[in-house]
Formats: sequence, C-alpha cells, structure tokens
Amino acid sequence: MKIKQMVVLAFIICCTTVNLSTAQDRKVVFIIVDGIAPDMLEKTSTPSLDKLKEKGSFTEASVGGTKGTYSETPTISAVGYNSLLTGTWVNKHNVFGNSIKNPNYNYPTIYRLLKDQYPNKQTAIFSTWLDNRTKLIGEGLEETQRIKIDYAFDGHELDTINFPHDSKREFIKNIDTKVAKKAADYIKESAPDLSWVYLEFSDDMGHGFGDSKQLYDAITFEDDLIGKIMEAVHYRETKYKEEWLLIVTTDHGRTAKDGKHHGGQSYRERSTWIATNYVYTNKYFKNYTPTVVDILPTITDFLNIKAPKNTQYEWDGVSLISPVDAINLSATINNNILEVSWKNISNSNTQAEILLSTTNDYKTGGVDKYISVGTTRLSNEKFTTTLKTPVNNFYKMVLKTKNNTLNTWITNN
Ligand SMILES: [Zn+2]
Repeated sequence: MKIKQMVVLAFIICCTTVNLSTAQDRKVVFIIVDGIAPDMLEKTSTPSLDKLKEKGSFTEASVGGTKGTYSETPTISAVGYNSLLTGTWVNKHNVFGNSIKNPNYNYPTIYRLLKDQYPNKQTAIFSTWLDNRTKLIGEGLEETQRIKIDYAFDGHELDTINFPHDSKREFIKNIDTKVAKKAADYIKESAPDLSWVYLEFSDDMGHGFGDSKQLYDAITFEDDLIGKIMEAVHYRETKYKEEWLLIVTTDHGRTAKDGKHHGGQSYRERSTWIATNYVYTNKYFKNYTPTVVDILPTITDFLNIKAPKNTQYEWDGVSLISPVDAINLSATINNNILEVSWKNISNSNTQAEILLSTTNDYKTGGVDKYISVGTTRLSNEKFTTTLKTPVNNFYKMVLKTKNNTLNTWITNN
C-alpha cells in the first residue's frame, strides 16, 4: 500500500472509531443508599450530595405507590428496589417484603430491557445484599431468560470469616466501603454500560438508633462513599469523553416519631429524594414530586432503550429528562360512564388518546389488546364517555400522548 493510501485508510479508521464511540458511549450508574428521609440530609454533612445538587439536579421524591389505592406499596427495602428495577408498583412486580417470595418476572427489570436490545452492553452490580442480583434481577433463572450480570461484586454479608457479624453492624459498614471502592475502581477501569450500587449501613443505624448521631454520622459516611463513585464517573467523562447518567436515591424514608422504622404509609416513610448529575431535568422533575418508578423510564430514555409497547404501557413512571405531557392519571367507571382525568404539564396542546383493555394477560406473560375509546385535547385534563359493551370488573387504561403514556387500573366492585 502506498503511503498516501495508508494515511487515508488510517484517517477513515480513526474517524469511524470516533463516530462510533460518540454514538455509543452513554453509561448509567444508579446508587441506592438505604433508608434516608430527605429531612435527614439537611441535618448532617453531605458534601457529595451537595455537589450533585449544585452542579446537577436534586428533588424530593416518594415511594409507596398511590396511597389507599390498588398500587399502594409497602415502604420496605426490597419492595422499593424492585419498583426502581421494574418501573412498576407492587401490584405488578409482586415483591411485598424483604423475603422476596414470588417476584413477577413478567415485568422486566432495567437489566433485561438493556440486554434484550443490546446483548453486548456490559452490566454490573456492586451490592451489600446478594438477593438484589439473585432474586430481584433473577440472574440465571428460567423466568428471566437466564440473564447474566457481566460483573458482580456482592454477597460479602454471607462471608462471616472476613466480615464477622457484630452487634454494632461494623461489618456492614466495612462491606459498604469495599462495595463502593470496587464500584469506583471498576467504573474507572471498565466503564460498564449499566451499574447498580447498593449501600446498606445507613438503614442499620436507623433501625438501631433512630434519629441520632449514629444515623446522621452514617449518612455522612455513605455520602463520602457516593463521592468516590462520583469521582470515578468524572474521571471517565473527562478522560474518555463518555456521557454518564448518575442517579442517587434512597428506597424509603423513616417513621416520624423517632426514625427507627419504615414500611407504613406515613408522609416521612413515603418521602425520598433523587439526586443526579444530569443538569437538564424536565419540568416534571423540577416542579412536581417524582417517584421511584420514574427512574426506569429515565434510564431507558438516556440509553435509548426502546421497550416493547405493551411493556411501556405497564410502566408506572415517566422520564425525568425528556418532555412529559401528562401526569397524575385517574379513572372511574360508574353506570357505564368512564371518567378520566389527568394533569397537563405540556407546553403544546396536542391530542390525548384513551385506550382500554379488559384483560391483564401481561401479568402472566401474555399480550393485552387495547381499544381506543376516544381522543381529546390534552389541555381538557378530562374525558368522559359511555361504554357500550357490558361493564367488566377490571380494566387497564392507558392515556397516550405525544411524549409519554400513563396507565391506571379501574376496578369496579
Ligand atoms: Zn431500606
């Protein structure tokens, strides 16, 4: 090959590589730090989260589904993680407690949605609790198409030789340290496309001491670990020109009385927060109160994952980074009259379409057929129609707008 041709070829290879890398190099890491109500962040030093607040975005948020309805969800750890992983409340994902008895894997986790579309993308988990991988993500199970996490650093809570269990829970503190350090090192070296970091010590101090110096010191301790992961993300962004979405959140708040417990539906137990390095969060993030189920559609959005339509119809949340047209959907059927309402948060007054399904076959791995019962202007914020067919006891309803879908169940007793 002549020198001139070689130069041209080198130029083509070089430019192709650059183009490919800019198109592909979007990465996500989400961190769940256990059991920290938003008011607690105000009462102790959290320099890393303060930095995210200042340079990225921060909002108070909630867990627990819609209180007093079919989607009400216990404010318990594994329940919250699975709401994040599947973008659905407990009435769908079916994890009601930390024993994780019978998850409904028909509602795919973010790990499966990524691997279904991009089998070669790399996934990782760094966790102080093994069940997050083996039971919630369901690694290797037939029901999850035997999904494999490419890199896992977890299960140390079962290693009583290196981490002897002590009543002060120092071993959990040590494991959190190891988990966060490994996450930071691995992200720096290998930059997986999707990572989950789970840290537990703050919840242990909450259960042990409630609102106390021990809990608030534990929050500062976890904040320092979060800082190590933020540094790793910053390193990747500056050295490799990758674009990273970092999300930090908690799985539930704590009881108002003394901060020792959680699981119920009180305001403080339902109260959480979401911090992210993402600057241009949407109007919904900025002006309303997002929930844990909004994180999955945010990640799919960022990573350009196009989930099947019927899967999207099941998501109970919406993106926090792209435009969202409507929120707060509710619907009732009384004497054949369907009444639907929502909150319009769009700048453009486009159409909203109302879809109904009389089945819930998605729950068992099937596909539901939706029929359109009408369209209206988004700005009307309500829609009423008389159903001609005999009224069922159960409907799934979807509100479809230009930029998002919302869903609700209608149970007619
Ligand atoms: Zn928890």
